[in-house]
Formats: sequence, C-alpha cells, structure tokens
Amino acid sequence: MKIKNIYIEKQIEKHKNTKRIVKNIKFENIILCDHYSQIFNTSNQSFRIQKKFPSLILAKKENNFIFKTPNGFNIGFKNNYYFSHMLNCPYDCKYCYLQGMFNSANYLVFVNYEDFYSSIKDKINETNETTCFFSGYDCDSLALENITNFLNDFLKYFKDLKKGVLEIRSKSVNINVLKNVQPLNNVIPAFSLNPQFVIEKFEDKTPDLSKRLNAIKSLQKLGWNIGLRFDPLIWFNKQDQYKLFFSNIFDYLDTNKIHSVTLGAFRMPSSFLKKIANDRPYNYLIQMGNSKRLLGIETSDFDENKRMFCKQQIMKFIPKEKVFIN
Ligand code: SF4
Repeated sequence: MKIKNIYIEKQIEKHKNTKRIVKNIKFENIILCDHYSQIFNTSNQSFRIQKKFPSLILAKKENNFIFKTPNGFNIGFKNNYYFSHMLNCPYDCKYCYLQGMFNSANYLVFVNYEDFYSSIKDKINETNETTCFFSGYDCDSLALENITNFLNDFLKYFKDLKKGVLEIRSKSVNINVLKNVQPLNNVIPAFSLNPQFVIEKFEDKTPDLSKRLNAIKSLQKLGWNIGLRFDPLIWFNKQDQYKLFFSNIFDYLDTNKIHSVTLGAFRMPSSFLKKIANDRPYNYLIQMGNSKRLLGIETSDFDENKRMFCKQQIMKFIPKEKVFIN
C-alpha cells in the first residue's frame, strides 16, 4: 500500500506500533503534529476528494476506549460494547455513515492498542457474565490489518480472556491473520453481505460476494465459527433474487459453523444523511433516504414485511436463536 503523507503525533513517535506500521508502508513524507485533531477534525476539507488519496494519521487515544452499543444491537450476549482502534476504511460504500460522521476520509489509527485491551479487561471484570465487544464499527476490521497488525495483537489478548467475546466485522477477504492462528471460540469473524447486484451498485471497491463467501468457507474449514451480517441489507423490489441470494449462501456455507446471523435495514442519523446528500448528489440510496428524511423517516424501503420475508428465508437454514434483527 502506498500513502503519500503519514502524520504522527509527537507523543507516540517512538511507540512500538508506530514503528511497526511505518515499516509496513511505502510513503513519501512523515509529518509530526501535536494532536490528530489538527488534521482530522478541521471542517474545511472534502471527504470525497480525500477519499481518492487518503493520508494516514497515527495517534494516541487518551480516553473513552469502549462504548455501549445501541439498544437491540447484540448477537446473543447481554453485555455489549464497541470500540474503534481505527476510523475510516479503504472501501467506499455509498451508504457508509462515516462520510456523514467525519469531515476527513484520512485513515486515523490509535496505536496504543494496549490501552484498548486494559479497558476491555476492566469491563469484563465488572460482571460474571460474558461481555461481547464489537470491532469494526467505525472502520473495517480486516481491510488494513496488513498495516495495523491490530488483530495480530488482539487475537493473542483474547486467547486468555475467558468471559470476553470479540466480533471482527468486515467486508474484506484479507483473512491471513485468522488463518495463521488456531481458531478461538470467543472470537467471531463476521462478514457483511449483500446480493452481488447491490455490491456492484453501492459497495464501491469492496470484494465481490463470491470472494467473501470463499473467504468465509475457508475459515470455516479451519474451524472458525462465522457471523453473517445482512446489515444493512439494501433492499430492491426483487423478492425472488433475495430468496436465491439467501439459499445460495446457506447451501454453499457450512451452516453448523455459523455463530449468528444479523439482519438490519439501512438507517442513518438525519444530520449525516443531509451531509452525504450534498456531497453525493447522484447517490440514489442516499437521495431516497434524504427525501424520506424530509418526511421524518430515516430508513430505506426495507419495512417490517420485507424484514419478515428475509428472516423466514434465513430461518429455513439457521435456528431462530441465532438470528438477530437490528
Ligand atoms: S466497508 Fe463499512 S466502513 Fe468501509 S466504506 Fe463500507 S460501510 Fe463504510
């Protein structure tokens, strides 16, 4: 991967992860800065232009390492938190809420992984029940692993955690980090899926459905239990094609090695939707959502009936206790 500029906060210039990351990249300039917000948070920048040539920012996260997930966001555990060691991602999904949330498309990596881990351990110790942690909320967990080595470290950490579960959510087929270790029961690689015609229309730069399914299948063969995430499932009025989509997936994969399946509609806070609608005037999904926003609705046409239809298709193959609707 080639990056023109790497910005590094002075305070982590000598951190071992900073050195490791810099070694993994071809770059032209290193620029030291006092705080990442000087580059990442300024308002006079264009997400769309930066997306073409993103810079890398290496910084230290000072506090607030983990957050409670929104109500209903779970895969069967009572205690649920998410964390973001990285913000932004190399893909360019037209429906991605990050383009509404951030001013910058630069990749921001918080290199102090050890502090994320301490917070996770502290959180786990607050209760005797299992606690689930979601990675990949504000990034893609696997896509830039070759640079960050984050999971390489975190898989080692989670191996010793008895009451902690880690979900790694991704659209990437960059699965070497998972292939190189013994499968862990408390780590769930989870892949976001949509029909190929949706991927072509809305998930720019992401791997095809067939590649994602092949990656899942090879992990299953190695012993990993996989999460399938139809969330957001982008809905078009082609019921037969969605029926085929689900049956092809479950016929191809090992249904005994599926940890959980989630299903959710495209949804986004109004303010994000408004910002993206300005930035991407030809984005059908966002413009449709935006006109509904003006009517006070913020989701796509994936209504209760269509959700039930999809749930029924999934439950032909997967027991209902493993299916979660967001
Ligand atoms: S893969 Fe996820 S984080 Fe990356 S652009 Fe798509 S929706 Fe956004």
